[in-house]
Amino acid sequence: MNFFEYLELQYRKWRLKRKRQNVVIRGNCKLCGSCCRSICLHVGGKWLKTKKHFSKAIDEDEKLSRFEICGKTEEGYLKFSCTSLNKNGTCDDYENRPRLCRSFPNPSIFMQFGELPAGCGFRMSTEIDFEKVLHDAMDDQDSIKSGHIPNGK
Ligand code: SF4
Ligand code: SF4
Repeated sequence: MNFFEYLELQYRKWRLKRKRQNVVIRGNCKLCGSCCRSICLHVGGKWLKTKKHFSKAIDEDEKLSRFEICGKTEEGYLKFSCTSLNKNGTCDDYENRPRLCRSFPNPSIFMQFGELPAGCGFRMSTEIDFEKVLHDAMDDQDSIKSGHIPNGK
C-alpha cells in the first residue's frame, strides 16, 4: 500500500465511523465463476503487483500456485485466473480452496479499494450501523439519567 492509498484508507475508516456506517455485502452466489477467472490477490496486506511478489506469496502459501497471471488492472495490480475452476464454473478443489476464496466476498474488499466482479450476484454498500446507533443512544440515556448531558447534543 502506497502513502496515498494509506491516506485514502484512513479517510474511508474515519468517514464510516463518523457516519456510523458499516460495509454490508448482500446477495447470493450465481456460480458464474467470474471471481475465479479474473481476480486480484491480496496477500500479506498487499495487492500483488509483480511476478516476484507472486512467487514469494507462493513460497509462503503453496495453495496460491493454482493461480495464473492473466493480465493487469489499470491501477497496475496483477489479475489471475484459477486452474482449479472447472468447465461447469465450479471449484475442483473446493475442500482445499485458499482462505481468500472461503471468505469471498468480504467487506474488507471495500477498505482495500477492490471491487466485485462484473455480474457478481453479491453487491457491496455502506449502511447505517443500527447496533452502534442503538448502543450510543443507550449510553446517552444512561448519561442523562445520571444527570450528565452528553456533549454536543
Ligand atoms: S463472481 Fe460472485 S456470483 Fe460469480 S461465482 Fe463469484 S461470488 Fe459467485
Ligand atoms: S480455488 Fe476454487 S474457489 Fe478459489 S479461485 Fe480457484 S476455483 Fe475459485
